[in-house]
Amino acid sequence: MLQAESVQKSFDGFMAVADARLTVAKGEIVAVIGPNGAGKTTLFNLITGQLEPDKGKILFKGENISGLPPYKICRKGISRSFQVVNIFNRLTVFENVQAAVLSHQKMTFNLFSPAKNIAVRETREILESVGLSDKADRISGMLSHGDQKVLEMAVALGNRPELLILDEPTAGMSAEETAFCIALVKRLSREMGLTILFCEHDIELVFSISHRIMVMQQGTTITQGPPDEVRHNRQVQEAYLGNAA
Ligand code: ADP
Ligand code: MG
Repeated sequence: MLQAESVQKSFDGFMAVADARLTVAKGEIVAVIGPNGAGKTTLFNLITGQLEPDKGKILFKGENISGLPPYKICRKGISRSFQVVNIFNRLTVFENVQAAVLSHQKMTFNLFSPAKNIAVRETREILESVGLSDKADRISGMLSHGDQKVLEMAVALGNRPELLILDEPTAGMSAEETAFCIALVKRLSREMGLTILFCEHDIELVFSISHRIMVMQQGTTITQGPPDEVRHNRQVQEAYLGNAA
């Protein structure tokens, strides 16, 4: 479904992503791990069009999408959430998801006179699928951090993606919220057949839910493979897992 080949991106001469390689097959849950500053977010920004690669290719379902603007990539079926929560704080939970659904259906959404009766069923379905139905009328900015992260996933689902990219979905969550979020990711993968690419610093969590893991260090992919293979890779143990391995 997704393939990144020797992708490179530098900022003013600083090579944030030097040689990233990534393969994601349909239906997989794939994690990208690596220390802070390894280039994970930059790679996601390159995949979703927030940034344009200097070199390399990004193929989505066989089509080269490198350098396309974010809205075009989104229309092709890739949605994402951000490391820092990115929702309309003053809209309700329902309105946030409704806006995404309307935008996907190419309908105009006027923030000042919400189209109250449009796409209600689809919006409700998405809220139901992420467990936010009972908070539909809450003002999004007033939600707990955990609920805001889940809402951001719901907004991403409004675009009806085939590939969902999550940048540190559990960052700042309590243990309970994290468990809920992980169960949700698994369920979306299983029940909706979504392909999921995420990065996450909680290694145990990564190893417990991923079908495959890609490891980055200083902008370069050092390996990718099934959890067991990655866990036993010497280079990974030395570079990243340290004594914990
Ligand atoms: P990660 O998500 O793995 O923690 P990032 O992709 O955010 O890493 O960052 C990789 C490196 O690139 C870091 O050293 C970061 O400071 C740098 N970087 C990221 N974005 C920019 C930018 N827009 N301008 C300059 N440097 C950046
Ligand atoms: Mg990051």
